[in-house]
Amino acid sequence: CGIVGILGRGPVAEQLVDSLKRLEYRGYDSAGVATLEGVLLDRRRAKGKLKNLEAVLKSSPLGGHIGIGHTRWATHGKPTENNAHPHATDNVAVVHNGIIENFRDLRTQLEAQGATFSSETDTEVVAHLVNSYLAKGLSPADAVKATLPQLHGAFALAFIFKGEENLMIGARKGSPLAVGYGDGEMYLGSDAIALGPFTDTISYLDDGDWVVLSRADATVYDDKNAVVEREIVKHNTAT
Ligand code: GLU
Repeated sequence: CGIVGILGRGPVAEQLVDSLKRLEYRGYDSAGVATLEGVLLDRRRAKGKLKNLEAVLKSSPLGGHIGIGHTRWATHGKPTENNAHPHATDNVAVVHNGIIENFRDLRTQLEAQGATFSSETDTEVVAHLVNSYLAKGLSPADAVKATLPQLHGAFALAFIFKGEENLMIGARKGSPLAVGYGDGEMYLGSDAIALGPFTDTISYLDDGDWVVLSRADATVYDDKNAVVEREIVKHNTAT
C-alpha cells in the first residue's frame, strides 16, 4: 500500500526499505524492491514484514543507484512472494497501488500475443503492456503514454527500465503520488512522509498526471499529455 522510487547518487536498496518503513502505518502483507544493477533490472521480494525483505536483501544484496519499492495490500492474488511487487519483464519493472479493473481482458489479449504471466495480480498486465510497446520500438515515455489510457481503475505507478539509469516514470489516477526534489537526486513516493529522510521539497501530482524524471529534472504531463507545472511545496516531515 505504499510506493517509493529513488533516482539516487549512491546505492538505493537500503534507502528504499527505510522509506517503505515510513509507509508501514498504511498496512501491508508483503514488500519488494527492484533496482538497475548496471543495465540489468533485478528485484527482491518477500511475504510479510519488511524485516523479511531485509533478510532477503542481506543474503542476496541488490546494487544500483536507481530503484523502486513497494508495500502491498493484496487486492487480486494471495499475499505471496510471487504476487509481491515489483512486477517485471526483462525490460521494465513496475510497482502499483490501487486496482486495474480491466486486468482480465488485458491479460487475455497479452497472453494471446505471447506474454507469459508469473503472478495472479492485476498489476502484472501493466508491466506486460508497457513491455509490448517497448518491443514495438517505442521509447519508455511513449510506451507508458500508450499504456495509461488502457488502464481502468485506480493507480499510482512507478516504472524503471532496463538500460535507463537516469529515467523513472510515475503516474497517478485515484491514488496519490508525490515527486520529491533532491540535490542531484529525484524521488517518487506515496506521500511526503515516505520521502522525509531524503527531501522536504515535494510536488503532489494531480489526478491523471504522469511524470518523467531524471536526476536533474521532472516533466509533468496531464491526462491530455500536455506539459504542466505543479506547485512545489516545502514539507517538514524529517522527524
Ligand atoms: N492491486 C494490486 C495487487 O493486488 C496492488 C495492491 C496495493 O495497492 O498494494 O497487487
